[in-house]
Amino acid sequence: MKPLNDTIRATPPSGIRRFFDIAAEMEDVISLGVGEPDFVTPWRIREAGIYALEHGYTTYTSNAGLPELRQLICADLRKRYSASYAWDSECLITTGVSEGLDLALRVVLNPGDEVIVPEPCYVAYEPCVAFAGGTPVRVPTRAEDGFAVDPAVVAAAVTPRTKAILIGSPANPTGAVQPRSALEGLVRVAQQHDLYLLSDEIYDRLTYDGVHTSLGALPGARERTVVLGGFSKAQAMTGWRVGWICAPQTIAELCVRVHQYTMLCAPHVSQLAAVEALKEADGDVEEMVADYDRRRRVFVKGLREIGLDCPEPGGAFYAFPSIRSSGLDSETFAERLLEAESVAVVPGNVFGPSGEGHVRCSYATALPLLEEALVRMGRFLRSR
Ligand code: PLP
Repeated sequence: MKPLNDTIRATPPSGIRRFFDIAAEMEDVISLGVGEPDFVTPWRIREAGIYALEHGYTTYTSNAGLPELRQLICADLRKRYSASYAWDSECLITTGVSEGLDLALRVVLNPGDEVIVPEPCYVAYEPCVAFAGGTPVRVPTRAEDGFAVDPAVVAAAVTPRTKAILIGSPANPTGAVQPRSALEGLVRVAQQHDLYLLSDEIYDRLTYDGVHTSLGALPGARERTVVLGGFSKAQAMTGWRVGWICAPQTIAELCVRVHQYTMLCAPHVSQLAAVEALKEADGDVEEMVADYDRRRRVFVKGLREIGLDCPEPGGAFYAFPSIRSSGLDSETFAERLLEAESVAVVPGNVFGPSGEGHVRCSYATALPLLEEALVRMGRFLRSR
């Protein structure tokens, strides 16, 4: 048989899955491993989905998505970030940010183009760049800097092949919210070298200390920026598969072109549920954010008390403590913690080399479980 696709064969399976699989076989596991809200989708959003099913909204929508949803997304971006996108030519609905990322990269890249990816970063970024024919070029960020991106480090990684910078803020796995100054620096680098900016803002509403800056709203950024957002995290809608892209018309049109052949449209019922999410669910989102914030404070304080240094996570729902004091590397730490105390965390190295020496803990987990996890982690550390 002829070999299957080289790029895909060369891409290792997600390092997160491996831990899920081990944890799934065990009893009494506290999993801090999943990057998913532990809330069920707010009732009024589910109700809108039920209504849509009952009334037979089971067809395709237009390729770009329901006009009402696109209008609401653009109005929301205008209200919160003073970002201005035309709903009918600069916004499309995707099957989650995952599809949006894939579309944007395919539209921006030609084979061999390089994409600068500050890491540690979301595990899908590098594979998606490679699947789109590009080459990811990692640049490090450091816990000492709160994982802020240093534009000078990014500029130093630019080559004649560089086409884009891909950034997520608030970030998975670090919880870092990029300061406005760092993003402005990135815009300047992009302008100097004529690069596109791909900005994954899926956690934009989940900020506590930091203030989220939407990249496309920064002066000089708009014409070269693709903003990706969605409903999975803040609205607890991971399984509905609905997200969006906002970008200048030339980019958005080509994204729709790929999407119309590969996906046709995002699920109709989910789009109607997302309409309800934007119209009526702000209060639900605020309640969930307040709850994550409470858990964040307890958990981060607790980590520090058991001796794990933890940079302050300003957003998303992850803590990314240093485990260097344990003397273990992150894989060994995660394996032994799971074996000894049945607490599942994700080794930091799966998010890039700068993640080594850290583990990712999701605090989208009920407070009593977080407290019990802290007890077990403390015992694990003392036993070493
Ligand atoms: N981007 C980041 C940074 C994520 O953490 C995730 C999911 O964990 C996604 C995108 C995928 O989002 P979606 O469910 O909208 O495809």
